Amino acid sequence: MRQPLIAGNWKMHKTAAEGQALAQAIRQGLQTDQVEVVLCPPFTALSAVHAVLHGSSIRLGAQNMHWEDAGAFTGEISPVMLKEWCRYVILGHSERRQHFHEDDEMIRRKVAAALRHGLTPILCVGETLAQREAGETGAVVAAQTRRALEGLTPEQAMGVVIAYEPVWAIGTGRAATGADAEEVIRRWIRGTLAEHFGVEVAQRVRVLYGGSVTPENIAEFVCRPSIDGALVGGASLRAESFLGIIHETA
Ligand code: PEP
Repeated sequence: MRQPLIAGNWKMHKTAAEGQALAQAIRQGLQTDQVEVVLCPPFTALSAVHAVLHGSSIRLGAQNMHWEDAGAFTGEISPVMLKEWCRYVILGHSERRQHFHEDDEMIRRKVAAALRHGLTPILCVGETLAQREAGETGAVVAAQTRRALEGLTPEQAMGVVIAYEPVWAIGTGRAATGADAEEVIRRWIRGTLAEHFGVEVAQRVRVLYGGSVTPENIAEFVCRPSIDGALVGGASLRAESFLGIIHETA
């Protein structure tokens, strides 16, 4: 019922020319239509990657945005600007929470603004190592999910993709276990969705795992009933490894 989704977060990597070459290689090597594929390059490569993806089923996403449509916000990009290029936008990534002090209220505004403009948010939630060790994983993930979606109708909530990304697993080579990710997603993400928006929303929303995903470990996650794919950082920067992840998921 839920189509698998593999999204690549290129972070602050790839010039427009490099992004174009990577997108071309991914487009050429893609051998399945079972999995929805989303590429999230930096803003400066969106236009070039958009041109490469024209006429293909691969979707484009951004990595962040402001919640206002326009205004005196030097250096920011608005949903109105993004929707010319993108269908998706990553919001609340832990690197934005950590390095740019994004809090739950800012992320809530961004999620609402994205939906208002027809963009699909890929909302990232996840606990730090200290929170995990203190036994706070469930409470942190449930609160981040609830706060980011506050004020949405069930129909709007249904239009969000959620990525469970334990902060200690991002870029560390130390992925969560499939069983652990499944438990957090089933109990604390889908559970929170059910509590606030109803069981149908909890069953319909796609939830991804993110954190050191590779072609070698992706099967461990996508075989789980609550996990619908992955948000991939490092391994999305090479066509071979990103395609490996997609084809293992199909
Ligand atoms: C990410 O940036 O969202 C991510 C999961 O990174 P990595 O796959 O490199 O851990």
